[in-house]
Amino acid sequence: MPRNPRFDILFDPVRIGPKTAKNRFFQVPHASGMTNANPHVRAAFRGMKAEGGWAVVSTGACSVHPSSDDSPFPFASLWDEADVRAHAVMTEAVHAHGALAAVELWHGGAAAVNRTTRHTPLSPSGVPWMATHVGFMSSARPRVMDAGDIRDLIRWHAEAAVRAEQAGFDILYVYAGMGYLPYQFLLSDYNHRTDAYGGSPRNRVRLVEELIDTVREATGGRCAVALRISLQELRARPSESAPSEAHEVIGLLKDAPDLFDVKMDYSATDCAPSRFAPEGSHEPVVDFVRTITERPVVGVGRFTSPDTMVSMVRRGVLDLIGGARPSIADPFLPAKIAEGREDEIRECIGCNICISSWHDGVWVRCTQNPTAGEEWRHGWHPEIVRRDGEGSVLVVGGGPAGLEAALTLGRRGFKVVLAEAARDFGGRLLWETRLPGLRQWFRVVDYRLGQLRRMPNVSLHAESELGADEVREFGADHVVIATGARWTANLCGANEVPTRPLAAPRVYTPDDIARGARVEGPVVVFDFDNYYMGSAVAEHMAAQGLATTYVTSAGSAQSWGIMTNEQPLVHQAFRKAGIACRTLQIVEDFDGEGVTLAQIFTGEQQVIPARSLIVVGQRTGGSPLYDALREDMRSVVLTGDANAPGAIAHAVYQGHRAAREIGLVPQRERRDAPFAMRDIAPPREAAE
Ligand code: ADP
Ligand code: SF4
Repeated sequence: MPRNPRFDILFDPVRIGPKTAKNRFFQVPHASGMTNANPHVRAAFRGMKAEGGWAVVSTGACSVHPSSDDSPFPFASLWDEADVRAHAVMTEAVHAHGALAAVELWHGGAAAVNRTTRHTPLSPSGVPWMATHVGFMSSARPRVMDAGDIRDLIRWHAEAAVRAEQAGFDILYVYAGMGYLPYQFLLSDYNHRTDAYGGSPRNRVRLVEELIDTVREATGGRCAVALRISLQELRARPSESAPSEAHEVIGLLKDAPDLFDVKMDYSATDCAPSRFAPEGSHEPVVDFVRTITERPVVGVGRFTSPDTMVSMVRRGVLDLIGGARPSIADPFLPAKIAEGREDEIRECIGCNICISSWHDGVWVRCTQNPTAGEEWRHGWHPEIVRRDGEGSVLVVGGGPAGLEAALTLGRRGFKVVLAEAARDFGGRLLWETRLPGLRQWFRVVDYRLGQLRRMPNVSLHAESELGADEVREFGADHVVIATGARWTANLCGANEVPTRPLAAPRVYTPDDIARGARVEGPVVVFDFDNYYMGSAVAEHMAAQGLATTYVTSAGSAQSWGIMTNEQPLVHQAFRKAGIACRTLQIVEDFDGEGVTLAQIFTGEQQVIPARSLIVVGQRTGGSPLYDALREDMRSVVLTGDANAPGAIAHAVYQGHRAAREIGLVPQRERRDAPFAMRDIAPPREAAE
């Protein structure tokens, strides 16, 4: 299909200093959980985006020196020759598709507490970052940098820049964002210095200016130099000479870099979950930059709509459309727009499972794109599946797992029949996406149904509940069972193991609410699942005007939501909706009038009034249909939540993997390994 001329502007080349981006699609640096220990995994992941049409593909934060060590979180480094080799694999993969490769030179300062390298953390004025996320918390406090430390920092950037150019990078970032060291110099909360690097905004930008100049000089002006800067806090600070400190800082730096990459300050606002923030949510903070500088500006905002992207360019907010999550969910987003296939974009749903992967310390996972992070290990391509399917497959269950299985099997060339008991496809998402804020998650269904409806070898049958005899009679060569899981009303013991259901009136599970149970208030929602369901059901109850108390065995509401950046926003939503929140409590009993709570560690009891109790805890999978068929059918697979209940991302991944493997002998997974640093001189003391 020809490209819609409305989107032509997105394919203009953009000059970035000495380099030219072939279009406006710019994959900004983002965490992938991939480090120099997995150079081929990383190269394949980033290279896929170049193949998909992104003009610039960046790596994630890349430490310039061992005094910036983010462990246990995964991070890359440019410390030595072995690191150069590791990155070169990625830049080759990116260049192979005509894209530019960018690297984010990173020093974490007070935010990098150097758990592995054991260097003392550095900071402008000894001010620490007092994180509430347990993964970031530390009792190690930073020391104050003296003039020699500042000279060292500048030299480390110069040395890393030289290595970055050797590794083949085209665009080198100075990173003054997200609470890291150059940002700490910009923000007066961190910077109390009285020398030339502290005090006035003029002095506070000095280090950033010097880093930009250093990186440019170190590479002889051959590489473009980008500045990544967080503007949320600066924009909130008054200035004597400009509308805000952000305006003043950008004014002082306006001619320094070849490119501005502008963003928010905190993960929860920068990588905001769709549940609480719409597409383009950064605009009110970053909209002014383009009016001050002539240099191109890139920014993000979970852009998946080409019309929104065009509007960003036409209204003079951005020159380049930054993508992190949209590029993970669909590495081929630019190619699809270029080819007039924008209705085939696998749109990011804003669930932030990807960012949770980084918090977990593993390679990126994505709800929408089950191939993300598996391009090298499994050799999975997000768009192309080997067409080797022969015969027929019956898929039972049209939730995320069944839809993904049917799509991948269809692409393999099998004759696929998808049978779903309900009137509509979508499984658990049909109801879940009607809960407050979760509408965009239905994109998981929309994308797959949209693709399946075009496939001549796939037929979709709703209102088709199948039993074992019907499946046998159907006579398919292969059967995939994806019939989902159920919530139980089991409570949870103080050892955090599910126990037994309560024999009491008006005890419900999320499945009961989905089926339309009429809940009487006041209602207690007891959550020991600790992902989104408990808090979303509490919001749902409060939205119906019921007095709602949310109780959790964990230390905060939707405790696992810290991994997806949702947790702080859940607390804000509770406050707005008037939902009471009781943490570190388990439900011991309920008699229809009151819920008995016990403090999880001390056992201290308390009764709170409630007419209804909703238990959001354990889910069970399993399938009687599978059990009936497995004995006498040659090829039957149980997948998705029915196999093992999990997040939507798990169900999609399971469905995808099952579909890839049906009829084939399972292949051994490839294992990546770091490049060894050979011929390195031992430390002097050890050598003596
Ligand atoms: P998953 O997340 O694993 O895809 P879901 O619970 O979202 O699981 O979806 C499972 C789907 O399977 C539901 O839509 C349900 O209606 C459907 N289903 C369950 N049993 C049968 C059956 N015997 N025949 C057809 N569809 C079924
Ligand atoms: Fe988007 Fe969710 Fe995929 Fe992240 S995991 S890219 S938020 S769909």
